[in-house]
Amino acid sequence: MLFEEVASYYQKLEAVSSRLEMIDILTELFKKAKKEEMKKLVYMTQGILSPPFEGVEIGMAEKLVEASIATATGFSKEEVEKEFKKRGDLGEAAEYLVSKTKLKRLSSKKFELSEVFDTMYKIATTSGEGSQEAKIKMLAELLAASSPLEARYIVRFSLGTLRLGVGDATILEALSKLVTGERKFKEQLENAYNICSDLGKVAEALAKEGIKGIENFKVELFSPIRPALAERLPTAEEILERMHGKCAVESKYDGLRAQVHVDKKSKRVEIFSRRLERLTPMFPEIAKAALEEIDAESAIIEGEAIAYNEVTGEFHPFQETIQRKRKHGVEEMSQELPLHLFAFDLMYLDGEGYLDKPYHERREKLEKIIKNKGTILLADRIIATSPKELEKYFEEAIEKGLEGIVAKELNSKYIAGARKFSWIKMKRSYKGELSDTVDLVILGYYLGKGVRAEFKFGGLLCGVYNEKKDVFETITKIGTGFSEEQMKEFKEVLDKIKVKSKPARVVSNIEPDFWVEPKYVVTVKADEITRSPTHTCGKEGDESGYALRFPRIVGGIRSDKSPEDATTTKEIIEMFKMQKKEKLQEES
Ligand code: AMP
Repeated sequence: MLFEEVASYYQKLEAVSSRLEMIDILTELFKKAKKEEMKKLVYMTQGILSPPFEGVEIGMAEKLVEASIATATGFSKEEVEKEFKKRGDLGEAAEYLVSKTKLKRLSSKKFELSEVFDTMYKIATTSGEGSQEAKIKMLAELLAASSPLEARYIVRFSLGTLRLGVGDATILEALSKLVTGERKFKEQLENAYNICSDLGKVAEALAKEGIKGIENFKVELFSPIRPALAERLPTAEEILERMHGKCAVESKYDGLRAQVHVDKKSKRVEIFSRRLERLTPMFPEIAKAALEEIDAESAIIEGEAIAYNEVTGEFHPFQETIQRKRKHGVEEMSQELPLHLFAFDLMYLDGEGYLDKPYHERREKLEKIIKNKGTILLADRIIATSPKELEKYFEEAIEKGLEGIVAKELNSKYIAGARKFSWIKMKRSYKGELSDTVDLVILGYYLGKGVRAEFKFGGLLCGVYNEKKDVFETITKIGTGFSEEQMKEFKEVLDKIKVKSKPARVVSNIEPDFWVEPKYVVTVKADEITRSPTHTCGKEGDESGYALRFPRIVGGIRSDKSPEDATTTKEIIEMFKMQKKEKLQEES
């Protein structure tokens, strides 16, 4: 299909205000694509060139893109910059400048979607000496022959800021509608996606082989699996009741989740984060240990990477563990504060997928292949048959400086990409505060007044993720507790993702000074969850929604969580019910 047509659909997507409309537009767009184009079309719509775990980043620097626009249109760099400043969006500036181009168009060529995609791929993967000039030239050639509207999206895509606001679930629903005319096939598609974490691959298999192609998805080495997530319950009694009287109880380590893929034959190791980004270079000691300490030819194991002192048995706080992500000098850090991997699951072993095997069998095998000395250790666990046992184990975990426990149903499969009661977490509770922190998505921000005017930052509008509706709902404004440094940082990063109007997947009754693309997650502590007529979290019809009382930020932006990893509406409602119960217990 022609890129011109893709661009016109992107324009339609930008203009809609509801997710359902989005699904319909996407379905139509997908209908137009040829089978062999599907993969590229899906990636492009996601604003990426390949799945995140392959690490092909687009994101050209603004200056280079400006230079390309100048070359393509005959305007000076200063003129390009002026238009950019005026509009605040380089895509729109390019659209305008291409429409007023000073150069004669050499051909009336129309681009195929694949040509645009392939050029973008080439730009992203060109490196080394002279690569900047080469990138500018490639992009300029594309822009010189494109229409104004095409230029808008080519420029945004090249900057890595396409921002169509389409989430994974929206794409899956559109794909489902494409083949069945309905949304009900979504679950099977989701299943395939959970196994391979690659929407382009799923879409391609669907286009080429139909529903059959989707049923054949298998776990593959070096293709990360979307992680299983835990539900939460507040008491040992409730956990055991849900688990029918017996379950495994593991220590909950507060580090970074790591999925380790290892193949001895090729000596290849890859480590993926919870968001399935490639973490291998960040964890050299774990990569090395994976080759030396796992007793298997090939395996995929999952665990929590955390700074741990073997001698004293101390666990370092999360913030120290993730310094690794921010600081340079990974080598020195790995000497100074070596990480350990506490392995808690096994997804693949010597050519065989383990997702469908029961937990107890996966754990048994895990115990066989991990020698439990050195860098990779087994997550500690017991089998509990009474609330008392569970409670005691929980208290011991807290005493050791751990976060709490994760209870696991002995006969459950590994449920990739979903939050289910086969894993239940229970965390330490702080008196007078919510028993747990919540992870919120930043939806907008406010300008500062008074002393804060200097920073042009007055606070955040935050929301939770409604999984069922695949939208973000507001839950709180946060205006206090920011350090000066934080205010500067928030202002800087949020300015880059400002959008002109409320994104289609955001449901809100309030208007912040600026909306932003739902992208960043922050961890927030609060005193209480209250019912709220203002916020849309959990709001049904005329009934009130839910809000946080006295919210405050803990730490900075959680780079390990994507917006869909934020606390969900359902979790907030469950936490609200738990809180009510706790209050009743206190009063009685
Ligand atoms: P939370 O991030 O609070 O939703 O808790 C879930 C996270 O706990 C997982 O994503 C893991 O990173 C982490 N975790 C730590 N220990 C375990 C364990 N034994 N089993 C499962 N998850 C664990």
